[in-house]
Parts: sequence; C-alpha cells; structure tokens
Amino acid sequence: MKVFKFGGASVKNADAVKNVAAILARYPDQKLIVVVSAMGKTTNKLEELISALYAQDHRIYAGLIDDIKAYHAEILAGLFAEKHYGIYHEIEEVFEQLAQLFFKPLAENRAYQYDQLVSLGEYISSKILAAFINEQGYSSAWLDAKTVIRTDNTYQEGQVDWNKTGELCQQKVTTLFEKVNIAITQGFIGHTAEGFTTTLGREGSDYSAGILAYCCQAQSVTIWKDVPGMLNADPKYFEQTQLLEAISFKEAIELSYYGASVIHPKTVQPLQQKNIPLYVRSFLDPGAPGTTISQNAERDAQIPSFIVKFNQVLVTFSRKDFSFIAEKQLSEIFAALAHMKAPINLMQNSALNFSVLVDHNKMDLAQLQQQLGQDFHIRYNENLELATIRHYNDGILSQMQKNKTCLVLQQTRTTARLVLSPII
Ligand code: ASP
Ligand code: MG
Repeated sequence: MKVFKFGGASVKNADAVKNVAAILARYPDQKLIVVVSAMGKTTNKLEELISALYAQDHRIYAGLIDDIKAYHAEILAGLFAEKHYGIYHEIEEVFEQLAQLFFKPLAENRAYQYDQLVSLGEYISSKILAAFINEQGYSSAWLDAKTVIRTDNTYQEGQVDWNKTGELCQQKVTTLFEKVNIAITQGFIGHTAEGFTTTLGREGSDYSAGILAYCCQAQSVTIWKDVPGMLNADPKYFEQTQLLEAISFKEAIELSYYGASVIHPKTVQPLQQKNIPLYVRSFLDPGAPGTTISQNAERDAQIPSFIVKFNQVLVTFSRKDFSFIAEKQLSEIFAALAHMKAPINLMQNSALNFSVLVDHNKMDLAQLQQQLGQDFHIRYNENLELATIRHYNDGILSQMQKNKTCLVLQQTRTTARLVLSPII
C-alpha cells in the first residue's frame, strides 16, 4: 500500500482535480491512501471566516461564505455534467451549517472552534475528489480522517496518539482495502477521544500522510507538488536551482528545520523511524522521478543547498552594569521570547553581549523593552537575511557575502549560517 498526498494547488480547480484522477489511473490495482488538502487557498479563507465570526461581523462572514461556496460550486460544475444529487447536497449542507453557526453562541475556546470550522476545507475537497473518482469508475471510497487519526485536545496543534491511531488504522483501513483500492481522506485533521475535530497545524497535510504511512505500514509516501521535487534553493530567489534527486531522511529534516518549505518539518520523522521512503514529485509531470528521501545518505553532500529567511531582526542584549550575561540572565531572555512565541533562528554570545535572530513579524520590541529594559541595553538591527548553506565551500561563502555586510557567521563542517545586511 502506498500513501499519496495532494496539496491545495493540485486540486485548485476542476482541471486540477481531473489531473489528480489521471495520476491515480497510472497506478491500477494498487492500494492507495490519498490524502488531500483543502482546495486552493480555502484554508486562508476559512481563517478569515473564523475572525469574522469572533468579530461578530455578519456582513464579512456572509460574504466569505458566498465566496467559498461560489469557488467550490465552479469546481463542482466543471466536474459533474449534471447536478449530481449526492455530492451537491453534501456540500450545500456544509454551507448551510456554516451560515447558521453565526447565530449560535460563540465557543469560548476559539482554538476548538477554529478546528471544527477550518477543517471543513479538507472535508469538502475530499468529498468532491472522492465523488469524482467514484463517478469515473475507480474502485474507491471516502475515508473519514476523524475515524483514524487520534490526537490529544491541543486544538490547532493536535498531538498524535500513535498507539491508538495504529489500532484505528488496522481496523478501518484494512477493512476498507478489502473492498476497494483507493481510500480518499483528508489531510490536516485528527480527532480527540471525545470525537471532536482537531487540526495538526497549518500545512499539516503532509504530516497526515506521514502519520498514516507509519500507522498503516505503507510501502512509500509520495507528495505530489507543483515543483519537480526538492530543489537545492527556492526558485523564487535563486536563478539556478538544481533538483536533489536523492537525499537522506536526516538531510531532509535538517533542510526543513532551516526553513526549506517543500515538506512539512514533522513529516519525515515517522517515515524515518520505519524506513518508509518519501518521494516528492511533480503533479504536472507525473512521469518524472522527482526526489527520493530515504535512509541512503550517499548523495547528501553532492549539491550545496541554500535556504534564506528574510525580514529578520537581530536583537542584542547587554547588561547595564557591564557584567557578564550568564545562565540566569539567559533564562530571563529566553522566558521573555518564549512568552512572545518568538522562535530563535540563531543565537550568538560573547562576554558582554547576547544576540538572537528572530522573524521580525514575531518580535514585539516594545514589549521586550518593557520586560527586560530595566536590566539590559537592548539594541537591534532590522531588515536582515539569514542564509543557511548545507554542504558549503569557501567559494559559496564569499559569493553569498557579495554586496552584503555579514554580521554573524557560524560554521560547522556541514552547515554555514550567515546573517546578512544589504550594504547601504
Ligand atoms: N489546508 C491546510 C493548510 O493550508 C493544510 C495543508 O494544506 O497542508 O494549512
Ligand atoms: Mg497546502
């Protein structure tokens, strides 16, 4: 059995959904779990909807429902020649429930409400894909992710109960595959022991694929994307990129940790534990091999990889009395940053200074000043870039610094990290 994951871009309109069906047709008589994300940018729209709900702004709320409904209606119209009763009815019902939700008392726990509402994007997309595939005559069934992926009650970031999920997979998936070849299910979604919906964090559908592969002992996972595979740099910022044909699990985890956005960072861990290979392939060119991520690390060092994070701020703390920054002061600084939910991308210390590099949009400098300004001088540098290079060489290091000032350089044998400022 194989797990396939299709993201929002791969089901963004009727033609894209037809393309997914065409890809599945390339795997006749195979057992496939197909994990699908919400269509296009639906999750963002649903996040706006939850904001409008909590702002109790009916005009915006109703307008958003109209938009999301019209978007899916167009896809349905492109897929089903006649008003196919079942699927039209099922989707209509979702929007009716959403419309009524506005007039119900607001759930106190907004994260809980978020999960019940925002997960509908995946519910709708999986229902439409399953109906289409079925209509086309594939041996398939819709599988409710809420009956297989069990999490705790951490809404918006459900923590997986691996044992229970394993048990549920054995029961549900095994019996489903006795009857059909393809199970269409939702990414991003889990459920609590009480049966409430949880979500696994934004972009969590890849992770769902990893969880299901682990718990159902899959042969492999394939993530179908609009890029040829994992590239050694983001083509948005680098002119020449190279395909990483084969990298190890460890390398993939490192790259996603540093910010490579092709796969969700948590996805690889379960696969690595059971040695299940992960393929990243293009849904636009399904015959191309893409990237293979496996235990094999032979080719990890062949191609240097570049990951750049923009809009960074380097915050430097020094004590007002010129004394050392020791563990006690560090713990105060870390506590303030943790409270702010500002993850540290890099840190550096000397006797008198301690610096952290953080995404600017997660950093509230005024709040930091208020919390720590009494004991510390706090200085900062804005508009910086953090460049991480895996498997670098000296030539690359100097090239990266061209027309830039390098504020911090950290090197290990495999990884170089540079904090760069444009020369003004
Ligand atoms: N639809 C969810 C999101 O956009 C999950 C996913 O696509 O991976 O975050
Ligand atoms: Mg997505």
